[in-house]
Amino acid sequence: MALIRKRRLTEQQQRRIKKQQTERQIERDDSQDLEGLIVQHYGRQLEVQVLSLPTEHPIAPTPKPDEPIPFWRPIELGDVWRCHTRTNLDLLVTGDRVKWQADPNTGLGIITAVHERSSLLTRPDRYHKVKPVAANVSLIVIVFAPLPEPAPMLIDRYLVACAHAGIPALLVLNKQDLLKPQDPILDLLDEYKALGYESLICQSNSDLSELAKRLDGETVVFVGQSGVGKSSLINTVVPNAAQKTNVISENSALGQHTTTSTRLISFGENGALIDSPGIREFGLWHLPVESIKDGFPELEPYFGRCQFRNCTHINAKNCALEHGVTEGNILQRRLDSYLRLTEEIQTAQQKV
Ligand code: GDP
Ligand code: ZN
Repeated sequence: MALIRKRRLTEQQQRRIKKQQTERQIERDDSQDLEGLIVQHYGRQLEVQVLSLPTEHPIAPTPKPDEPIPFWRPIELGDVWRCHTRTNLDLLVTGDRVKWQADPNTGLGIITAVHERSSLLTRPDRYHKVKPVAANVSLIVIVFAPLPEPAPMLIDRYLVACAHAGIPALLVLNKQDLLKPQDPILDLLDEYKALGYESLICQSNSDLSELAKRLDGETVVFVGQSGVGKSSLINTVVPNAAQKTNVISENSALGQHTTTSTRLISFGENGALIDSPGIREFGLWHLPVESIKDGFPELEPYFGRCQFRNCTHINAKNCALEHGVTEGNILQRRLDSYLRLTEEIQTAQQKV
C-alpha cells in the first residue's frame, strides 16, 4: 500500500512538533469529538458528513428582544459540514474517516484526528509527486465493453494498480447487447476468471440489480477506457451521482476557475462511490517496479527459476516463464503485458 510521502524534518523540528502535539492533546476536550466521513476535498477545504451526534447537543442561544436572531446550525446526522483541519494532521482525502468538532455558532467544523485507513489510492500529480486521492476504497470496478474494443493490457495495468493498493477488483463486461455470438471478448473474460478475478456481465440500460447488490456495502471506484459506459452504469446504480458539483477554486485571486474535485456519494443501504475524472484514469508509473508482479499471480511460481539471473524472458535460453507459456500455464499475452509494463515503468522512472 502506498503511503503519503512525508516531508523530511530535522530532529529538532520533529521534537518540537511532538511537543506541540502533546500539548494540543492535553488542551483538547475529546468528549466533544464526533465521527465523520470526508465526502469532498478540494484545496484546503474539506466537507465532512456527520456520522455521530454529541451526547448532549449544544443549546441554541436565546435571541434577545430587538436583536437579530444569532446564527445557529444544529448538528444533524447525514448533514455535510465544511471543515478545516488541525495542521498536525497528514493530508486528508475523500473517504477518510475522521474525528471532528462542530461549531454551531459558525456552522464550521474542525477535524481533530483521522482513523487508520484500510487502503489509499494515489496518483502522480503534475510535478510527478505521489498524491493521495481516495481512502478506504474496498472495491475497484474495472469496466470494459465490446465497443470501444478492449485493450487487455489496460486491464492488466488496472489489475496491477489494484494489487498494489491491496484492493480487490471486479471486472465488469458492459454493453452485453453488443456481444456477437461466440464473441472473443467472452474468452478474454474467461481468461481473467481462470486467474481468479471476480467478474460480471451487464448492460447499462437494463436490469443492474446484480451489480447494485454486489456493490452495496462497498466503497467503490469505477475505472476503464472512455466510452465503455462507466457514467451510464454509475448513474443507474448511484442515483445522486449525476449532479455535477463544480467547485470554485479557493485560490481565486487570479479570477475564479472551477475544478472538479473527488467526491463521495452514498448509495443503496451502505454503499459509497468515490469519483473524479482523475480517479477514473488513475496512473501507474509511480509504482515500484517490483509491484508489477502482484498483478500477475500466475507468473509467481516461475519467478527466479530462469537459468540466467538477468533473463529477458524473450526467446531466452531455459526461461522458466517461457516454459510456463509452453506448458499452457501462462498466456503469452499476459507475459508480454508483464514485460511491457515493467519496461514502461522503468523508462518513466529513469526520466524523473
Ligand atoms: P464512459 O466514458 O465510460 O463514462 O461511458 P458513457 O457512460 O459515457 O457511455 C459511452 C456510450 O456508450 C454512450 O453513448 C452510452 O449511451 C453507450 N452505452 C453505455 N452503456 C451501454 C450499453 O450497455 N449498451 C450499449 N449499446 N451502449 C451503451
Ligand atoms: Zn526468463
